[in-house]
Amino acid sequence: MIKFGIRQSFDNIEQVEERYSKLDVPVELALPYYWNIYEPVRGRLTVQAPITDERFKIWGNEIADFARALGATNITLHPNNVNKDKAIQDEALNNLEYFSGLYKNDVVFCIETFEGKRRVFAPDEIALFNLPMTLDTSHIREDEKVWSLIKGYKERIFNMHLSAREGARQHLPIDDFCKEVVRYLIDNKWTGNVILEYLPEFHGHLLNDLGLLKAMQ
Ligand SMILES: [Zn+2]
Repeated sequence: MIKFGIRQSFDNIEQVEERYSKLDVPVELALPYYWNIYEPVRGRLTVQAPITDERFKIWGNEIADFARALGATNITLHPNNVNKDKAIQDEALNNLEYFSGLYKNDVVFCIETFEGKRRVFAPDEIALFNLPMTLDTSHIREDEKVWSLIKGYKERIFNMHLSAREGARQHLPIDDFCKEVVRYLIDNKWTGNVILEYLPEFHGHLLNDLGLLKAMQ
């Protein structure tokens, strides 16, 4: 079975109650990455660091503990921008390996697909290194590319961030392509999370679209 949900973020502490208390659908909780918001949540001093850095072992640990406290098993990480070479990728791979040894399958760190040249892992490299993947349909420019990742790598895709794109605009309400993707996943008995990720101005569509997708299963 696929679990369908929506992505919800917050930009300051006051928004937490307002944004989450009334939701009764599964949610992907997007943590803020700005220091001034993160710090009061965390209560101690360290800087949130990229995954290519040694400090990932510290904040990754805290995030994993937080996920476990919530009963969540999947954590999605953005591959940070770096001047990438083999050494820097190895560093990130070592860090990720450290966590998969530590948490086994209790908590899984998934790398999200981004096509920027400086991302430490490009979508094809996530597959090349056999890392758990969060595939974001808006971040991949070509539909054929989305299909080739899904068809070739679906066993290691744990989450789908679903939204439509139009030229340079991303995270628009789902279109026929998105529905085709979900149909394929259902028909192929894929199990994982499908998360609707829309720009704030389209949040009014989230619950209705979520209902449409659930009805497909
Ligand atoms: Zn995403």
